[in-house]
Amino acid sequence: MKPDKKARRRKRPDPPQPLVLPKHFPECRVCGETRVFCAEAMKGDAPLNLESLGKTPALFSYEYAYDTALYPVRLIAIGDICVECGTPRTIVMDKLKGKPRILKGDGGPAGGLMLPRGG
Ligand SMILES: [Zn+2]
Repeated sequence: MKPDKKARRRKRPDPPQPLVLPKHFPECRVCGETRVFCAEAMKGDAPLNLESLGKTPALFSYEYAYDTALYPVRLIAIGDICVECGTPRTIVMDKLKGKPRILKGDGGPAGGLMLPRGG
């Protein structure tokens, strides 16, 4: 006898969800700690520029850049080290699209976008 089709279907794992960015990881996946090394170690130092710029200190960041036909793209991951267990961990990852490229036509009637000329 064949296995029940519905039962087989139920056993399949859920398909992976689409990636929604930016993706934040507010706590350590190992121990659950929310504090990270950089911010904790800097406490009491009153750094000059970080808060005025609205930046959160982080120990490391990684970036991967590539071009598409329409715009440049940067994939970034910013991370720090868990103060409790010492595990390096990602805090946030995101995908940043640059300014759209201006598509240059041949100047003819059917040639691409016509942009106003400055000056
Ligand atoms: Zn941890």
